[in-house]
Amino acid sequence: MQSITILGATGSIGASTLDVLARHPDKYKVFALTAHSRVEALAEQCARFRPARAVVGSAAAARLLSALLKERGVCCDVDYGEAALCEVAAAAETDSVMAAIVGAAGLAPALAAARAGKKILLANKEALVMSGQLFMDAVQQHGATLLPIDSEHNAIFQSLPQSYARSPQGCGVAKILLTASGGPFLARAVETLEHVTPDEACKHPNWVMGRKISVDSATMMNKGLEVIEAHWLFGASAAQIEVVIHPQSVIHSMVSYVDGSVLAQLGNPDMRTPIAHALAFPERIESGVAQLDLTAIGTLQFDKPDFARFPCLALAFEALAAGGTAPALLNAANEVAVQAFLDGRIGFRDIDRVISRVMFDLEHGAASSIEAVMAQDARARGAAEKIVAGVTR
Ligand code: NAD
Ligand code: MG
Repeated sequence: MQSITILGATGSIGASTLDVLARHPDKYKVFALTAHSRVEALAEQCARFRPARAVVGSAAAARLLSALLKERGVCCDVDYGEAALCEVAAAAETDSVMAAIVGAAGLAPALAAARAGKKILLANKEALVMSGQLFMDAVQQHGATLLPIDSEHNAIFQSLPQSYARSPQGCGVAKILLTASGGPFLARAVETLEHVTPDEACKHPNWVMGRKISVDSATMMNKGLEVIEAHWLFGASAAQIEVVIHPQSVIHSMVSYVDGSVLAQLGNPDMRTPIAHALAFPERIESGVAQLDLTAIGTLQFDKPDFARFPCLALAFEALAAGGTAPALLNAANEVAVQAFLDGRIGFRDIDRVISRVMFDLEHGAASSIEAVMAQDARARGAAEKIVAGVTR
């Protein structure tokens, strides 16, 4: 019986994880569930999955959750705040941690799980983007296991040899081919992007996801963050990672070998596949996802990315090349800009302008410690908020 903590249980990945777990009550039990503010949803999950611990974002949310659980006759220890998130991620009672909090808020608990030597199922790509070297070092030093949930990275993991040791040359890997759907604005007239609404940006053609990652997919910053994520997970340089536009999202990514072979992982676009893969690895379990019907799909298309249409993708490559705290800066500016866009404070094209200005204005340094990374994160947020405040619409 594997015991699991789900950080970000009420989100899109959290809900998909619980869906898979519910299919295998003989194999998995839930130790802890966490949410930020969706207390009602978390109470329902607690009533169904009976975790020993639940963590929310504030004292008020914790009081409300305790009351709701009492009404339902559910016995569960309720806590709030970052220290409690880190505690349930590192607790002796949990074997695996699904890291599915969105954004920089997920870094501290994911790192706590790494330092406690847990099996980490990593959806929270922002944690790795911000502190790649420090995170990978913690995983290695504490004997943790890191399994990628992001569908592309899970596909790459499945297409690499099991003996892969973060060195492409060591295994005859020539290139990682990171596929991208191109999001909802792949074919839209560029001059109209200035005026798209948050709802249009969140309407992804193939995936149903949280609003932040949906906007990231529309700007293709998501692919940029994934290039940086792939760099850290697989030890590949920027030149060894090629972004390939594939609008159907059926091939979830590929590995190209020096002998000319290309290995790929295919499937319907449903996150329960990578979640089930990582949960059961190296075994396979049923996930609830329908078998792929290739003849019904008929055609698979591929194209090169257009960096002029998607400046965020270029900014991410720049941040990766700059190294140090530059990716943390990129990530923080992006989080502020995306939230401002979702709140109607800036336009869609202002997102890349805000990030670009922050990257130009702020110096970046060595990512020598988590404190240095978090200080850069705070500086970038302050700078981005100032630029957002100056945007006239
Ligand atoms: P979501 O917005 O649906 O859910 C986010 C979860 O994080 C919620 O449970 C929320 O309560 C929690 N949360 C938000 N802010 C928090 C804070 N400050 N402190 C603590 N908890 C907080 O997001 P999602 O789509 O499930 O994505 C989660 C992560 O997984 C992101 O990093 C995303 O990039 C990654 N991811 C998602 C998908 C997908 O299909 N949804 C695919 C690949 C990767
Ligand atoms: Mg992805």
